Amino acid sequence: MGKRTYEDVAKYVEWQSQHKCKVVSAKPEQHFDDLGVDVTVWNVKTDTDGAWWVVEGDTVPMNLYPQGAYYFGTDEAYSFHMGIMQRMQASKEQYNPDDYIEAATLGAEIAPQLLRKLRSIATLIDSATEIEDFQSIGVQSRETLIELGNYIYASHMACDQEQPQASNFKKKAELAIQFYLNGSDNADYRSIIKKMTEATWDYANKLTHSSSATYYEASTCISLCISLVGVYENILQKIHDPISQQSCPACKSKKLTVDNIVADENGKINAIHLMCEECENSFVVDFTN
Ligand SMILES: [Zn+2]
Repeated sequence: MGKRTYEDVAKYVEWQSQHKCKVVSAKPEQHFDDLGVDVTVWNVKTDTDGAWWVVEGDTVPMNLYPQGAYYFGTDEAYSFHMGIMQRMQASKEQYNPDDYIEAATLGAEIAPQLLRKLRSIATLIDSATEIEDFQSIGVQSRETLIELGNYIYASHMACDQEQPQASNFKKKAELAIQFYLNGSDNADYRSIIKKMTEATWDYANKLTHSSSATYYEASTCISLCISLVGVYENILQKIHDPISQQSCPACKSKKLTVDNIVADENGKINAIHLMCEECENSFVVDFTN
C-alpha cells in the first residue's frame, strides 16, 4: 500500500466525516511495530468535527477513532485497531483446536480420552455465539473434569475412607492429590493444586448456569480445563519419571543422562546408572530398597 501521506489521511477523514468538515492539521503522532507490522497513529484536527486518531499501516486498513472519552491516547486507538484486525484475521485463518491444547499444556502427553474431550470443547468455542453455546461449553467442561477424575483416581486411594460417588470430581481429585503428592515437602503444592482444581470445577458450574456469559468466560473455562488436565498429566509424569527427582551427588546438577538400566527377569528396574552432563560424574540410583 506504500506510505500514506498527509493528503491521504486528510482526504480519508473528510470522506468519513458526517459533518462535511475540513481537516486543519494532521501529523503522525506515534509509530508502533511491536506486533510485527509498521503502524502509524495520526493526530488529526478538523474545523467542525473535532479531533481524530487515524490508524494506518503497511498491511492494515485505515480507520479513525474519535479523540476524547474512549480513545484519549494513541495507545488506546492502536490497541483497539489491532485487536479488531486480529479478530478479522483469526476468523479467516483455519482454527485448529489442537494448537490451543498444545499451547496450554506445553505439549504434555495427554491421555487419549481426555484429549478427545478437550478437542471437542476447544472446537465448540470456534462457533460459539449464543448464550446457550457458552452454557454448553460449561456442561462439556464439567464432563471433561469428571473424566479427568476417573483418569487420575483409583479406588485404593480412598484407603479407609468412603468411596467418592462416580461423578464427585472434587473428592476424587483430592484423594489423588493426597496419594501422588504425599509428604510434607508437597504440602504447598497439594494445597495450591486443590484450590486450582476446585476453582476450575466451580468456574465450569458457574458458566453452565450463567445468563450473562460471553465468549470470554467460555474461553477462560476452556483454558482452565486444558491447564488443569496439563497439571495432572505433569503430576503423573513426575511419578513415572524417577530420574526427575535425582540430581548429581557431586555438583547437584539435574542434567543427567541414563547410561544403563539394570532390571530383573520380570522387567522390574533394580537400578539406574546415571551420568552427570556437567561434571561427568557417574552414579547409581538403587531401587531395590
Ligand atoms: Zn555433576
